[in-house]
Amino acid sequence: MIELGGGDPSAPLAEAVVDLDAIAQNTRLLAGRTGAALLAVVKADAFGHGLLPVARTVLAAGAGWLGVTSRAEAMALRDAGVTAPLLSWLHAPDEDFAPVVAAGVDLSAASTPHLAGIAAGARRARTRANVHLKVDTGLARNGAGDGDWPELVRRARAFETAGLLRVRGVWSHLATAEVPGDRGVAEQLRRLERALALARAGGLAPDLVHLANSAALVGLPRTHFDLVRAGIALYGVEPLPGQAAGLRPAMTLCSRVILTRRVPAGTGVSYGHDYVTRAASTLALVPLGFADGVPRAATGRGRVWIAGRQCPIAGRVTMDQIVVDVGDLPVRTGDEVLLFGSGDRGEPTVGDWARWAGTNPHEIFTGVGARVPRRYLPVRTARRSGRERVSA
Ligand SMILES: *Cc1c(COP(=O)(O)O)cnc(C)c1O
Repeated sequence: MIELGGGDPSAPLAEAVVDLDAIAQNTRLLAGRTGAALLAVVKADAFGHGLLPVARTVLAAGAGWLGVTSRAEAMALRDAGVTAPLLSWLHAPDEDFAPVVAAGVDLSAASTPHLAGIAAGARRARTRANVHLKVDTGLARNGAGDGDWPELVRRARAFETAGLLRVRGVWSHLATAEVPGDRGVAEQLRRLERALALARAGGLAPDLVHLANSAALVGLPRTHFDLVRAGIALYGVEPLPGQAAGLRPAMTLCSRVILTRRVPAGTGVSYGHDYVTRAASTLALVPLGFADGVPRAATGRGRVWIAGRQCPIAGRVTMDQIVVDVGDLPVRTGDEVLLFGSGDRGEPTVGDWARWAGTNPHEIFTGVGARVPRRYLPVRTARRSGRERVSA
């Protein structure tokens, strides 16, 4: 059970409680659903859950790889002593790659300028860079197109011969893994296989092919290849609607009531009085707003858990606070408030907030603001999964 403050005057008014045991269990569960190695996506501060605590937890629970988007995230892991295989995939071609290459970070390259930049970094670092060539198979976002792929392969092979890099992976990202039965997946698979055949014909010998994200891990086994990249599922959000994999939500965003007021029927709340109480009611003030991750777009729809019930937010979500209409519930200053959590106590889930705000759970998680302290519940079972796989 999560308790905030408990009468301690020095306790924070709000916090995001991250259950590392849930993340460990999710990792074991996901690793057990595939014969491929598991790459845990810990970009964006582990989807707001905290980079280092999450990285250590997933590695101990059976993830063989970590995935981030930037050099800064990669170096934060290495500087903290995390030595696990690590892939970083979103870069400008003229970045200084020498430090990450020296730190043994695998890098994605989607164009010949990127490849040249990585090779230059490897030359300065006096060590070979491990590269994963990214091919666009239909997402049309970040990957080499069909027309550029042969040249990318040719240049990569030349850099290999020069001793500057080794192409360890060929990879792509699915556009529609969340859509059951989408025919785009088959086309993306065909294009990945074709790119792989061209890479091999060009003299490359990648031993890690990867395509799948969380939804594909759960729903599309034929996309698993050698490595699957799981993000949202690690944090306990079911990636496929109506196909529960048994994941446990890891984050609870909670706060407490700092003021209550009894008001008569017809009281207008918030700017422009866009919420009007229908009956005499108690209004509870909660010190969390959009700067803390309560999406303003959920105004008029958002609900929070107080005193065992979900109660509507009255009026607008402001930067720092919300007002909750708790009706006749016996709510007092200091009472616990759950914005979202596992749902076990009847509180909203991150999926509910995503729906109310017209977005996805990823955006809700990464929106939880920097001023909300994270508190960690430890892994309870130190038991290892026995499913760890040796990665290349
Ligand atoms: C963020 C990301 C993922 C994780 O996706 P989920 O749907 O959260 O599992 C996987 N691969 C790449 C390239 C990503 O950027």
